Amino acid sequence: MGHVLRSEEQQIAVDALRRFLDAEAEALFNREYRDRFVPREVMAAMMRRLAEFGLVSGAVSEAHGGLGLDWLTTLMLFEEVAATSVDLSVPVLINCFGAHMIANIAPPHVRERYLPGLLCGDSFVSIGISEPDVGSNVLEIKTQARREGDHWVINGEKTWISNGGYSDFLICACRSSNDPRQGLTHILIDRREHGYEVREIPKIALNSQSTAQIFLSDIRVPVANTIGVEGHALRDTLVLFERSRAFVAMQAVGLARRALEEALRYACERRQHGKVIAGHQLIAAMLAEMSTQIDAARLLVHRAAEMFDAGVGAQMEAAMAKYFACETAVEIARKAVQIHGGNGVTRDFLVEKLAREAIVCPIPEGTSQIQQLIIARALTGVSAF
Ligand SMILES: Cc1cc2nc3c(=O)[nH]c(=O)nc-3n(C[C@H](O)[C@H](O)[C@H](O)COP(=O)(O)OP(=O)(O)OC[C@H]3O[C@@H](n4cnc5c(N)ncnc54)[C@H](O)[C@@H]3O)c2cc1C
Repeated sequence: MGHVLRSEEQQIAVDALRRFLDAEAEALFNREYRDRFVPREVMAAMMRRLAEFGLVSGAVSEAHGGLGLDWLTTLMLFEEVAATSVDLSVPVLINCFGAHMIANIAPPHVRERYLPGLLCGDSFVSIGISEPDVGSNVLEIKTQARREGDHWVINGEKTWISNGGYSDFLICACRSSNDPRQGLTHILIDRREHGYEVREIPKIALNSQSTAQIFLSDIRVPVANTIGVEGHALRDTLVLFERSRAFVAMQAVGLARRALEEALRYACERRQHGKVIAGHQLIAAMLAEMSTQIDAARLLVHRAAEMFDAGVGAQMEAAMAKYFACETAVEIARKAVQIHGGNGVTRDFLVEKLAREAIVCPIPEGTSQIQQLIIARALTGVSAF
C-alpha cells in the first residue's frame, strides 16, 4: 500500500490504536460477534477503551472537555477503526458527530449534562433525520414539534437511525413551523425521561450494531432541550453533513483497505497453474488497481480534512471524497471476493462480509447520486436536484 504522510505524533497515535484494535477488537467483531448484534454493555466497554485513543473526544475542543484534535488526525484514527470493523466504526462516527453538535450549538445546561458521557464512552446518541418518506430530501421532514407553553410535543417516525437501540438520547430533526427553509428544529429527547419506542432493522450487513426505527408519540420535551437556534436545523444539518461525509468516505477507505489486505494475503498463498496466483498478470493488475484506487480515495478524504482544518468551505470536496471512496469500496470488495475464488463467497473468509458491507456505503449521509448532484452544482452553479 502507498505511503501515508503522517507527522511523528500522528504515526505514534495510529500505531498505538492499531495495536489495541488488533489485540482487542479484531476477534470480538470479526469472529465472536460476526453478523451478530453486539449487546450495549459490550459496545460501551469498547467505546470507553476507544475514548482513551481520542476517538469521539478528538472531535471536541479542550474547552469543552475533548482532546481538540484536528480533523485530519481524527480521520486517520477513524480509518484504523473502520479497517478493523465497519460495525464498530458506526457508533464511533455517530457519537463523534453528536458530541460535536452538543459541544458547538447546544445550550450550556445540555452540554454539561450530555457531553461528558459521550466523551468517555459511557453514553450513546442518535441523530434522527431520515423518515419513511424522507431520505434524500431533508426539507420534507414531517416529524412534528408543536409548542405547548414551555414544552415541545413531538409526534412522528424516524427510520434508519444508527445507534437507535443503544441510544440514551436522540437529537431529532423536527418540523416546528411551515416555513420551507426555517421550519426545522433540532430537539434533544432523553430516552429515560421522555421515552421513545425503538425497533431494530435487519439488513444485508452491519447487523452487529444498531440501525433502528424510532417512534415518537406525544412526547413532551422542555423547550430548553432545543439544540441550536429554533428553525436552524436545516442549516446545521448541512454543516454537519460536510464533515460527516468525510467520515463515511473514510469508513469506505478502511473497508476497502481491509479487503485489499485480505486479497493480498490470499493471492500470495493460493497456488494455481504451478505458482501463487499473485504471479498471474491479471491478478497482479487487479491488486495494483485496487491499491491505487484506495490511495486516491484516501487522498480525497485527507484533502477535505485539511480544508476543514483550514476553515475553508469543502462541500464539493467532501462530496467528491464520499462519492469516490464509497463507489470504490464496492468495486474493491467485489474484486477481493473474485481473487478468493469460491472461498470468497464462504463465511470462512472475511471478504464475503466486506462485500456485503461495501454495498451499504454509498447510501447513508447522502447517496452517490446526491453527491454527484452536489459536485455538479458546485461546478456549474446550476442545480440539477
Ligand atoms: C446503514 C444506514 C445507516 C443510516 N443512519 C442514519 C442515521 O443515523 N440518521 C439518519 O437520519 N439517517 C440515517 N440513514 C438514512 C440515510 O441517510 C438515507 O437512507 C439516505 O439519505 C437515502 O435516503 P432513502 O433511503 O430514503 O433513499 P431515497 O431518497 O428514497 O432514494 C432512493 C434512490 O433515489 C435516488 N435519488 C433520490 N433523489 C434523487 C435525485 N434528486 N436525483 C437522482 N437520484 C435521486 C437515490 O440516490 C437512491 O438511489 C442511514 C441509512 C443506512 C442505510
